[in-house]
Amino acid sequence: MSGPAQFDRIALIGFGLIGGSIARAAREQGLAKEIVTTAHSAKTRARVMQLGVVDRVVETNAEAAEGSDLVILCIPVGACGAVAAEIAGHLKGGAIVSDVGSVKGAVVKEMAPHLPAGVHFVPAHPVAGTEHSGPDSGFAELFINRWCILTPPEGTNPRAVEKLRAFWAGIGARVEIMTPEHHDMVLAITSHLPHLIAYTIVGTADELEGVTQSEVLKFSAGGFRDFTRIAASDPIMWRDVFLTNK
Ligand code: NAP
Repeated sequence: MSGPAQFDRIALIGFGLIGGSIARAAREQGLAKEIVTTAHSAKTRARVMQLGVVDRVVETNAEAAEGSDLVILCIPVGACGAVAAEIAGHLKGGAIVSDVGSVKGAVVKEMAPHLPAGVHFVPAHPVAGTEHSGPDSGFAELFINRWCILTPPEGTNPRAVEKLRAFWAGIGARVEIMTPEHHDMVLAITSHLPHLIAYTIVGTADELEGVTQSEVLKFSAGGFRDFTRIAASDPIMWRDVFLTNK
């Protein structure tokens, strides 16, 4: 199904679970005339080219940002400030810059100072995911009926907020707007703390393996297995979340 394109060019910086899912969903829904992407490593960029789900794969973040109407950072939270600085001089006037970070206060603090006047900054967090990562892990249906929380700074152009809201609604999400502080408090209890507990329990069980001689694995019940699924998530992404939402 596809409607009229909402954007001439969308740039996705980072092509893992979230960037790859946005690309597939936006393409399926015809929300952009062109989708450009890049990733940190040559290996991922080469894989994205093979996948053929975007129009262009470029070498640098600056090149991706150049001439794009919507630029979404789909990278670990801890990298957002440096990438904002990298793309700042290459953004088109009137472009919307967004991200998908699981923490919002730190991302706003790190990114906002770099972004030039005339660019609209509308941070976002799609509350949807799996324990998988990398360029092959994304799928177009990831955001359907899931929440996407927007945290626009005070005074953000309402038309830019509405455009980003319509984009997320176009790929199936239900959109809510709140402050970054409120977002971080709510997500701390619903997502960040459960992940921290899962990592801690699975880490402790792993350390105990030696002294219990495989009994931990042998007697692991459903509850423990659920923890192992959560603790299989990408450690770099979650390290950044724990460090930035204390
Ligand atoms: P992922 O699968 O690990 O993908 C991360 C992507 O970012 C990779 O393509 C990586 O490139 C790229 N990258 C890292 N540093 C970069 C840089 N400096 N410049 C350009 N590209 C860079 O991660 P993900 O799960 O999609 O998570 C991305 C963001 O979404 C995180 O901020 C996370 O908090 C948020 N989020 C995740 C979930 C979830 O469940 N996973 C849910 C909601 C929100 P390489 O492959 O070359 O390293």
